[in-house]
Amino acid sequence: MQTCRMRIKDWCARFRTWQQTPMQYSLQNQEKHHCANCGHDFTGNYCPYCSQKAGVGRITWTSMWQGIMVLWGMESRSLPYSLVQLFGRPGYFIREYISGHRQVSYPPVSLLVIMGVVVNLIRWAFPFVAQEMEPTTFGVELLDRVFLWMHDHIEWNMLLWSLMFVFPTWVMFRKAPAYPAHTLPEGFFIQVFLSVIGVLSLLFTDRISMIISAFYGIETYRQLFGYGLWGTLWRLTIVTICAFTFVLIVLLSIVIGEAAAGQT
Ligand SMILES: [Zn+2]
Repeated sequence: MQTCRMRIKDWCARFRTWQQTPMQYSLQNQEKHHCANCGHDFTGNYCPYCSQKAGVGRITWTSMWQGIMVLWGMESRSLPYSLVQLFGRPGYFIREYISGHRQVSYPPVSLLVIMGVVVNLIRWAFPFVAQEMEPTTFGVELLDRVFLWMHDHIEWNMLLWSLMFVFPTWVMFRKAPAYPAHTLPEGFFIQVFLSVIGVLSLLFTDRISMIISAFYGIETYRQLFGYGLWGTLWRLTIVTICAFTFVLIVLLSIVIGEAAAGQT
């Protein structure tokens, strides 16, 4: 019993260390290469003149596979690796990305679009994994059309909701200890990453999906901005209320506007 508890404690400590350790890069390849594209000699992983990867030569079976993968932008930063990072250490990972470590992640907007396609495919092929949600209707034609479109495009739907958080987050978290004075464009990318998590959570039922989104929302903000759990919670609650109020005001004004237009 004692050893079991010790082992879990040890495992948790190691997991936390892994979460907080930034990604390391090392030059594994010290030998000289001759670039097959431009003919220069160089050491390193890429040719400094034309940026072709070291070791690339005539077409082989491997290069055929890589050629197909390039289509998905998978040749350098792997998509599964980015997902492991995003789900394992969301806040630290996002902070690295927005602070300039662009190579740590698969391009986030592409990641969101691809995940939207994947999740839609899974939900279409296995309808039992997630409850099919009916598109929201308001009885106002413009709104209903927008909501139907959003229902069919979960990735943009998720991003649109998330974008409501950009400004209130900027207001509430701009004095954060771990990442002070973040900018609105940085806030945009924070929400893109959170949308990826949100889209993948749609593989589960509504309730589980909501729990996943809430957990990752809190954990991401806590790791990224460096407030304690309570400091994160009350700020994030205000941010959420602001975002929902804004959406509500926009929806209400459209409904009232349409109703007024219908009367005249
Ligand atoms: Zn070259």
